[in-house]
Amino acid sequence: MSKEIDPRKWSEGKVVELYRWSDALYSLRVEAEVEPFAAGQFGKLGLMLEGEFISRPYSFVNAPQEKPLDFYFIVIPGGKLTPKLAQLAPGDRVFVARKPAGFFTLSQVPAGRFLWLLATGTALGPFLSILKTLEPWQRFEKIVLVHGVRTRSELAYRETIAYFQRAYPERFRFLTSVTRETGGDFSMRIPKAIELGLLEELAALPLDPKDSQVMICGNPEMVKDTVAQLISRGFKENLRHSPGQITTERYW
Ligand code: NAP
Repeated sequence: MSKEIDPRKWSEGKVVELYRWSDALYSLRVEAEVEPFAAGQFGKLGLMLEGEFISRPYSFVNAPQEKPLDFYFIVIPGGKLTPKLAQLAPGDRVFVARKPAGFFTLSQVPAGRFLWLLATGTALGPFLSILKTLEPWQRFEKIVLVHGVRTRSELAYRETIAYFQRAYPERFRFLTSVTRETGGDFSMRIPKAIELGLLEELAALPLDPKDSQVMICGNPEMVKDTVAQLISRGFKENLRHSPGQITTERYW
């Protein structure tokens, strides 16, 4: 890529905070001018590294009106960008794409009574942005957020989630799947928990295509396996000209 960074496309942002959740998980909070976005969309972060401009997409965790911008990421060993993002400090510069992108938003999700939000790892981020807005609470009677991680230390943003639990005690349910140690609400992978009926039992809510809309975001294999499991229960993928009950985002 050219050494020139186009200021019409890239806003020069200032790091407000780099918050470390665990060895590999971080939240980068940045002040930057970006165009309005819808909750669930992603921006891009970029750095000039040894004369080369490197950028990658990251979902906004902050709500559209909220500042600073908040990006949740995992350091990818050997990756070009994430090890450098994890070394930033308050006051450092980072480039943020002015134009947000993506279709993983509630505007793409048809009507329903119950909204199921299924995430693994850092793909929790877009759901937090969505839950910080009024729309899901206005449109759905009950909302279940499921976060699947390998270890307990990866259960980030618990305070943000606790806020939703306090604000909507009767309407919001949060479930954790911790697969490689004890300590979650359940310990099997999300598709298996759906297959065995455990997710419905823990959420105390039926997971059926008549009443439910399901948004899935995360590890591409998890998305694939969860979609297959839901299809076997009568769900259908939600496509632009053919509405269904499953809306997905493969996170990488
Ligand atoms: P992960 O491997 O995605 O695991 C998170 C959770 O998803 C675990 O509970 C895991 O269960 C479960 N899972 C994995 N495969 C599944 C499947 N097929 N069906 C259902 N559940 C499944 O862990 P992560 O730490 O979030 O990410 C791991 C690696 O992915 C990172 O280290 C990084 O290399 C890469 N990654 C890349 C990007 C990127 O932008 N390129 C972003 C995020 C992550 P198990 O414990 O049973 O496996």
